Amino acid sequence: MRKVGIFNSIHVKFVLIYVMLILLALQIIGLYFSKELEDTLKKNFNTSIKDRINLVEFSVREEMLKERSSDDPSVETSLRTVLTGFSSDDINEVRVIDSKYRILASSVLDHQKTMVGQKSTDDIVKRAIVSESPQSIIYFNDKANKRVQKRTHPIMNGSEVIGALYVESNIEKVFKQIDEINRILAGAAAVSLTITIIIGIFIAQTFTRPISDMRRQAQAMAKGNYSRKVRVYGNDEMGQLAIAFNHLTNQLLESQSTTEAERRKLASVLENMTDGVISTDRKGRVSLINDSALSMLRMTSDLVLNRPINTILGIEKEYSFEDLIEMRESLPLDFSTEDEPSILRATFSVTQRETGFVNGLIVVLHDNTEQEKIEMERREFVSNVSHELRTPLTTMRSYLEALAEGAWRNEDIAPAFLNVTQTETERMIRLVNDLLKLSRMDSNEYELNTEWVDFNTFFNSIIDRFEFSKSQEVSFRRIVPPEDLFVEIDTDKMTQVIDNIISNALKYSPDGGIVRFNVAVLEDSIRVSIADEGLGIPAANVNRIFDRFFRADKARSRAMGGTGLGLAIAKEMISAHGGKIWAHSVEGEGTSIFFTLPYEQHDDGEWDV
Ligand code: ADP
Repeated sequence: MRKVGIFNSIHVKFVLIYVMLILLALQIIGLYFSKELEDTLKKNFNTSIKDRINLVEFSVREEMLKERSSDDPSVETSLRTVLTGFSSDDINEVRVIDSKYRILASSVLDHQKTMVGQKSTDDIVKRAIVSESPQSIIYFNDKANKRVQKRTHPIMNGSEVIGALYVESNIEKVFKQIDEINRILAGAAAVSLTITIIIGIFIAQTFTRPISDMRRQAQAMAKGNYSRKVRVYGNDEMGQLAIAFNHLTNQLLESQSTTEAERRKLASVLENMTDGVISTDRKGRVSLINDSALSMLRMTSDLVLNRPINTILGIEKEYSFEDLIEMRESLPLDFSTEDEPSILRATFSVTQRETGFVNGLIVVLHDNTEQEKIEMERREFVSNVSHELRTPLTTMRSYLEALAEGAWRNEDIAPAFLNVTQTETERMIRLVNDLLKLSRMDSNEYELNTEWVDFNTFFNSIIDRFEFSKSQEVSFRRIVPPEDLFVEIDTDKMTQVIDNIISNALKYSPDGGIVRFNVAVLEDSIRVSIADEGLGIPAANVNRIFDRFFRADKARSRAMGGTGLGLAIAKEMISAHGGKIWAHSVEGEGTSIFFTLPYEQHDDGEWDV
């Protein structure tokens, strides 16, 4: 936050305005006061001067109008006597001038000699005699460096002007007095101004300190610190504001922690969801994405954030962002790679304000791979089963039709035809039995009747059975360890598994081929292998031979009476025993089928005890 400049601060502004107002008030008061004072002092001075002029005027008029005999002193002498007795601090000089402007007498001794008898040159004297009214002016006496008031007063005899009185008074005294009072006034103003400035600073502080506190508090709040409190200085409006501010801080703290808790809750819900969630801004750019969505899309957040949602979902060619907003149905998305199938289902919902303004889009991604796979397998299974049943049934129908149409009478053909129908019926029975077995395994409706048997004995007895009954020119080689290998197995089920593998090996072995039987002891299991020198399986199909109904060579397998379920059942049974089954094959060279069974090695010593 910017710092407040010194002249922008309320504190300084307040003090400045306050001082200006006081100064203005003092100025107005001072001006009014000194003006009034000046007027009063001048008026008093003038009144006192006028009173004295009136006094002296009377004596002067008396002397001027007096009938004089030759013994009497001259009018000048008498007037000088009158004026001499008339002396005062305020009055510098009094002159008597007759109507012809001749100076008759002066109160100043020097002037009595030099001026008496001279004509007065003062305009003011002439104006008083001519206008028959008193005149007055103030002028500045350069020599004495003083202001002096000149006053003239006509001396009347009835309506006739007989002369004039000229009075020069020392008005400087009045001005000095005014200056003195003004000085006192200015001093008092300066003192009161200083006091008011100091008081102003303190008063301003009482306003600005809570404001500064609140400013600091607001700054701290902006940085996420809600622990500070504003000090409450009183119960005035500022105090109320501080209380309200503290209350606001508490409310903010509470709502912030609620929001934070909600945010954390939402984040943890989003992160723990198995479904992927993506939200966008109003322009369709990704603003939030959870980990599930990232792993479903096989992307990292920096590759996704702020990019258009339709590009992220790989549907930018088919759908615009506006299309997705309108989208009411969920959309299947194929994110499968060569190694990993991945079918997603995207559901779209729009976040809107009450006004209908679109704020963004929320996309929920559901991983549908498993369901799709199951659905596909189910469809495939139904089609496989129907196909497997239809083929023998069609064959049987055509033979039965032929028999019904009269072939039954033909002793050569009829037995062969009946034989085919019998074989097909048996195959169907085998197929249905195999399907029932698988279905039981799928629904876990079976139990393993396990017992401890020595695997070598068990395995050899099965191989022996095949060796006795085999019709081909195939020789058997056994590599089995001499010691007893006790394993816990369901012998019936394990017999079925081994029967199936051996009969496959014999089925696909050429005449003169060798079938090798091997049992190896591993760390915690035994590994059994049955290898033939048959035509082998194409590399791409090796792992698929354990799938239901898979046949590498359909025609041949069917011709040999296979159902395509034998190895699928074997896989289920081996895994029910806690083992694994796999194949290794080289086309043209032969096939090896391996399986393991759990086996615990025991030290010889233990058995001896
Ligand atoms: P089937 O009843 O058709 O034999 P299986 O489940 O036992 O069904 O075998 C599945 C397919 O695996 C067979 O159709 C065959 O193509 C292939 N297969 C199994 N064992 C061998 C083998 N030893 N040599 C060559 N191909 C084999």
